[in-house]
This record gives sequence, C-alpha cells and structure tokens, in this order.
Amino acid sequence: MLSTLPGMAQVTSIHRKPALEAMVKAVSKDSLQKYLEGLVSFGTRHTLSQDQQGRGIEAARQYVLSRFRSFESTSGGRLTAEIDYFQVEADGRRVDRDTRMGNVMATLKGADPEDDRIFVVSGHIDSRVSDIMNAEADAPGANDDGSGVVALIEMVRIMSQQSFPATIIFVAVSGEEQGLIGAAHLARKAKNENWNLVAMINNDMIGNSTSSGTNLRDNTKLRVFSEGVPLFETEQMASLRRSTNAENDSKSRQLARYIKDVGERYVDQLEIKLIYRNDRFLRGGDHTPFSREGFTAVRLCEMNENYFHQHQDIRMEDGQPYGDLIDYIDYEYLRKNTAVNLAVLTSLASAPGVPQEVGVDISRLSNATLLRWKSPANGTASGYYVLMRETSDSMWERKFYTEELEMELPYSKDNYFFAVQSVGAHGAESLPVFPGPVR
Ligand SMILES: [Zn+2]
Repeated sequence: MLSTLPGMAQVTSIHRKPALEAMVKAVSKDSLQKYLEGLVSFGTRHTLSQDQQGRGIEAARQYVLSRFRSFESTSGGRLTAEIDYFQVEADGRRVDRDTRMGNVMATLKGADPEDDRIFVVSGHIDSRVSDIMNAEADAPGANDDGSGVVALIEMVRIMSQQSFPATIIFVAVSGEEQGLIGAAHLARKAKNENWNLVAMINNDMIGNSTSSGTNLRDNTKLRVFSEGVPLFETEQMASLRRSTNAENDSKSRQLARYIKDVGERYVDQLEIKLIYRNDRFLRGGDHTPFSREGFTAVRLCEMNENYFHQHQDIRMEDGQPYGDLIDYIDYEYLRKNTAVNLAVLTSLASAPGVPQEVGVDISRLSNATLLRWKSPANGTASGYYVLMRETSDSMWERKFYTEELEMELPYSKDNYFFAVQSVGAHGAESLPVFPGPVR
C-alpha cells in the first residue's frame, strides 16, 4: 500500500534474486506436514510433563534435535545442533516444582569468521490445555506452537545447504506457556555474553487461518507485531526519541517494515500487516524478553485466532470440537509464513551490516536534507539506499541509491522521515537505520 509523494506513481518494484527465489520455492507443505505429524505424536509437550516412553516434552525435544542433526552432514560443517538445558526452581505460580528445561538450538555458523552478527528465529516447543498446570492430558499444540517449530525445521533443511556471512540460530524454546521462561533464558544469555544479536523473530501460531466467533477464513494475511516506544529505553534514548519524533521508528519497527517489504516481495498471495504493538492487547510472547533486554525483536502470528483450538482440552461441547489438533492446520498458509521467515533471514544474513553513525546534518537551517554515515562494521557495502517517507505513512516510499557516504536530498527533514540501509554486492539490504542529529 503506497500513498504518493508529489509526482510519484504508485509502484512497488518486485525484483527477486533467483537464488533466493529458488530457496523460497523449496519450502514444502508435505515436509512441514511430516514434521508436524512427528511433533504431535508425543501426547503432550507441557513444560512440566514427565518423560515416559515416547511421551512428554523431553521426547519431543529429542525429536526436534534429531531433525536438526539430520542436516548437519550436508551443511559443510556449518550446522551444529544441541539442547541448552537449564534448571528452573519452583516459583509457586506456573512452575510448581523444580524443573529442568531446555531450548533446542540449531546454529548455522556464518561463513565469514570476522563477522560476529547473529540472527535468532524462534518457535516454542511446549504446549498446554485448558488448565495451565495440567501436564498429563493430551496437548497436541499443533498450531500453538507446533507450527512455529516445524517452520524452523523446514528452514534449517533448506538454509543449511547455503552459506551466509552472518550466523543464524534457530531455536525451539521451552516454557513459553509457563511464563516465557526459555526465551528469557536465551535473551539473558545473549545479553550476558555480549552477543552481537542484530534481530530476533518469534513465530508463535502461524498455521491457522480460521477465526472463532467471526467465522472468517483467510490465509492471505500475516501479522507482524513490533513495539513503537521500546520496552528497554534509557532516559537518554527517550530524550532522543522525543526530539527526533522517532516513536514510529524503533529498531523493531524497522525490522517489521523490512519483513513486510522482503516477505511480500518473495511470497505471493500474502499481505503482511504491521501491528503497532509489542504483542496482542495486554499479552506478550517469546520476543518480549528480548525486547526487554534491548534487542530488536518482533512476533509473527496468524491474522485470525481460533479460540476453540487454542489452550483447550480436547473435547466436544454442544456440537463444537475443541483442541489444538493437527486437523485444523492450513498447510498452504504455513508454507507461505515459513517462506516469509526464510526470505527475510536469508536476506538479512547475506547483507552487510547496517551503516554506522547515521546522522542528519543540523549545522545549518536548510530546506534540503543532508544525511551522512559510515561504512558497516561487518561485511562490505557496495552502496546504500536512503529511504524516505511521509511522516504520516507507515512504509518507506522512495529509495535513493548512492555509493557515497552521504547524500543531500531536496526534501526537508521537517516534512519527511529518512533512514539509510547498506546494500551488498549481490543486492541484499541491511536493516534501515534511523538518523540522529549530527553537526
Ligand atoms: Zn504460543
């Protein structure tokens, strides 16, 4: 959806890189279905479930680990998978006894040893029924969040055949339903170990296309939730945000726009809806602990939710079936949403790092806008795009290309928003950076 700048036609350019297009086409409904059938076969994946003869969350973790590991041998030594176990003490709330939890992680190491950038993409392996503490009843969690986990496996299958300069971590976290525990563990670890974590994408419920109550059925829209005012903000950051009117230009919002741009470029019959909030009304998700630690993080989620099939005991009531069963998955929708993730992560991990010290010159009053920046810390930029949009519009509307480290545009910084992104030799674009004032 583009509104027009003066004299500008409403055009969206679709330029697909053949190699990435081929990877997107490799995302397979059959393969997603096969992994999901495997994942729901463990009865329950409740975080507190006991390990017994092929039942429970630990067996499911081993299944996901074995899928990840099955791609190691053809990855040229770049892919490794493991379970990051950690001990959680009873908290008297949603964890009623000391429990060992684990995040299943597949790491696709970057091919450039000088490049320390990391991208994280997640789903949650745990499931639940009506009673959050019920660890015994069947909880297939086909959509919540089997859909997110099998998307990870399918991405690893395809992406492990390729090499990217930056590292990508695919993680199936535990303990989401008990309070975002596995995601918080990973976010803390990333913070404590000073990871250069550029972006985190949480996939939670991406395979259901029907809505309860309103009876909508639509597999052509995907939501991306992103914070405007960051959850993590120092007084200095807040002051800069207020003075530059950056409330709609947080790093997470830039990531959300990037997902819409690249996702819609590569995946047909899918509209990506920017939702201007960290998560659903009064809710949070596995990206939220990352947001709280100050990382750039968003959530992808289906457009419509079906509360008959979410957090429900499997049962029939007044002729209405309840439960998160595999029968209700829309595999074509899941394929498209998986493809969005793959296109975005491939594009981000292939691109050079973001331009540094991006600034808008304020040394003199002018009706033109002068932007300056420095080359990225990782990789080599062959050029840069300066992006521009109306202050009242959501998406970037114009892209000006340059191979220099500055650009002057005959549009006033009072009337438009700007950002700058790096472009690599093969055309992959970094995340855009919103400028601060410089003299
Ligand atoms: Zn969920």
